[in-house]
Amino acid sequence: MPHDHAHDPDHAHAVLPSEPALRVKALETLLTEKGLVDPAALDEIIDSYQDKIGPKNGAKVIARAWTDPAFKAALLADGTAAVSEMGFYGRQGEHVTVVENTPEVHNMVVCTLCSCYPWPLLGIPPAWYKSDAYRARAVREPRAVLAEFGVTLLPTQKVRVWDSTAEMRYLVLPMRPEGTEGMSAAELAPLVSRDAMVGTGIARGPKP
Ligand code: FE
Repeated sequence: MPHDHAHDPDHAHAVLPSEPALRVKALETLLTEKGLVDPAALDEIIDSYQDKIGPKNGAKVIARAWTDPAFKAALLADGTAAVSEMGFYGRQGEHVTVVENTPEVHNMVVCTLCSCYPWPLLGIPPAWYKSDAYRARAVREPRAVLAEFGVTLLPTQKVRVWDSTAEMRYLVLPMRPEGTEGMSAAELAPLVSRDAMVGTGIARGPKP
């Protein structure tokens, strides 16, 4: 699969040295002092992606796909269009492909070069997603990585690893947990974790 990274400025973290938080703080201070950025506006952007948007949007998409076969078909056929129709689009959300977990295949997402990730659906990527270890090992030994995340695959399941790029971002459609028959999309959404949509987790069943 080609990994042609037409990197935009949002990917600056990929070239940051090992103390990114410090560097970011220094840059923010400098830009604020020069009047180039408004710290309140920055905070609002971060809050929006980390907490408000976060993975809750993605969970709504998954829960709807579990309960609405027509939507699921549309989602798998054209992810970008289907999630846009739910209002989830924007920066880092272009070109979304949804890959479905089945008893035969477990999908897992990585960006081997940096940290491409569907922001409007999942928020800002977690530190581990951006780590050198995850980026290298997800491809080399996905089953070992999955085991460390506590994911036990079915004996029948193969692992398929998807390498994200700026041109293609992936969302995993987890298998609907057993024991959720009759639950509504609103009841199902909280069962869908961020990790389940990256493929480093599975959707959990309802609490007994
Ligand atoms: Fe990337």
